[in-house]
Amino acid sequence: MALPRADSTCGPGRHGSTLAVVPPPRPAPAGDDAPLTVAALDRALDAGCVVAVYQPVHDLRSGHVVGVEALARLRHPDTGRLLAPAEFVPLSERSGRAHLVDDAVASLAVPQAAAWRALRPGRPFSVGLNVSASRLWDRGLPARLQASAAAAGLPMDCLVIELTETALSDPDAGHDAVLWELADLGVNVTMDDFCTGYSALTHLLRLPVQGIKIDRAFVAASGTRRGRQVLAGLQALGDQLDVHVVAEGIETTEQLDLLREIGTPFGQGYLFSRPLPVDGLTQYLLAPPA
Ligand code: C2E
Ligand code: MG
Ligand code: MG
Repeated sequence: MALPRADSTCGPGRHGSTLAVVPPPRPAPAGDDAPLTVAALDRALDAGCVVAVYQPVHDLRSGHVVGVEALARLRHPDTGRLLAPAEFVPLSERSGRAHLVDDAVASLAVPQAAAWRALRPGRPFSVGLNVSASRLWDRGLPARLQASAAAAGLPMDCLVIELTETALSDPDAGHDAVLWELADLGVNVTMDDFCTGYSALTHLLRLPVQGIKIDRAFVAASGTRRGRQVLAGLQALGDQLDVHVVAEGIETTEQLDLLREIGTPFGQGYLFSRPLPVDGLTQYLLAPPA
């Protein structure tokens, strides 16, 4: 089945958008690894060189894919190297350009999610978008997301907004108003990297949080008794709050078995799949690995 293509905001013919040209970020060859400058970031943003890759999120009981998380990559405008978020998200945040990255990812991921959802009628499919703190000050965000979801034919309750606690470390009425408006529109507001930041639990008191993502550090610690207790405690908190719980960074069958045992409903990680470009994720949806 032909699906709309939305790997990258790069123009057609500039970097293309096939499986072959969206490899995972690779270590830079010598001389290719100078830190990104603001000028180069601007050129990349102007040239539309934001790329989205997608990691499947699974129902841990049935194994079915229930959605994806969209993750940003940036094609370096000079070297062509694909940069990981650690190489450009902090700079884009410091230089006031983070919302441009987030908007570019949303412009790719929302129509792409609608296409994937249409591929599997009647089955759940959500798309997670990571947002920077600065984007939460933007009172126009809910209306813009609503317009792009409507244009793509994606119901608002298929959108997940993933917030890190650092984005919320400075409680502010502006943040809260945008988040409440998104929640009122049906968007699932999720705390990413839950309990790794500052005063995580206080956010639960005042914000319309409907999901938590258990950071991979907790999943990785599940080999110890204390690690298992913490994981079970986080899941119990999720149950008490009646929110979606997604475990991140599942890499081994032992971790998966433990998460199933404590009742974590959803998860993602290299055990299932690394983040994939559009073609790879389409193949994954049509014929998930056994
Ligand atoms: P995150 O939102 O917590 O995303 C999960 C990260 O864990 C991703 O790294 C993903 O590739 C990685 N991951 C997934 N499964 C595994 C696993 O089994 N093992 C290990 N070791 N890692 C796994 P990535 O893509 O490098 O993203 C890092 C962070 O950058 C994200 O963490 C998110 O905070 C930020 N980010 C990514 N895309 C965007 C974006 O569009 N906007 C903003 N503002 N931030 C973004
Ligand atoms: Mg995330
Ligand atoms: Mg996370």
